[in-house]
Amino acid sequence: MTASPTPADIQNAIRSIPDFPKPGILFKDITPLLADARLFAGSIDLLTANFKPGTVDAVVGIDARGFIFAAAAARKLRAGFVPVRKKGKLPFQTHEQDYALEYGTATVAMHVDALKPGSRVLLIDDLLATGGTAAAAAVLVQKLGAQILEASFLIELSFLGGRQQLKQFPVRSLVVY
Ligand code: AMP
Repeated sequence: MTASPTPADIQNAIRSIPDFPKPGILFKDITPLLADARLFAGSIDLLTANFKPGTVDAVVGIDARGFIFAAAAARKLRAGFVPVRKKGKLPFQTHEQDYALEYGTATVAMHVDALKPGSRVLLIDDLLATGGTAAAAAVLVQKLGAQILEASFLIELSFLGGRQQLKQFPVRSLVVY
């Protein structure tokens, strides 16, 4: 049997693309990791390592790469999957939350009935940068009266200080730059 992948194995499969989608951004491309069955499964195992099936009611995933990991994590934990999407994409009534970007603002949305009050949530995204997106998603989760058990990220760009925005619950990341 092959050993389970380590965070170092996962890091080795992440490709850095300079100046994408804009000059000055070093984009972390996770597609080589997703294409590798062992690494993809291993990343889901690591993202969900703190929880047993049945102890999480919903995995909330953030648009769009967060969906890939959150949906697989939800299946593994036998939890529901709930999307936080960019404004204008969800068809039913939504709650919305603005957050700051380097220039301007962006808005994320969640269906008003996406989570029951008191439900236990694992929040997942592919990458934690400044923390604005995850903090806005957390506001939406908390607005519905749900409880965030943990926020888990595949990648953390620690030099951007995103953790400072996520102080109300434990934050975990597998690969830190
Ligand atoms: P932030 O709100 O600054 O924490 O940004 C996090 C969101 O932006 C995540 O949904 C990421 O997918 C995306 N993101 C930010 N920076 C990068 C990067 N360098 N490479 C890939 N995705 C990024």
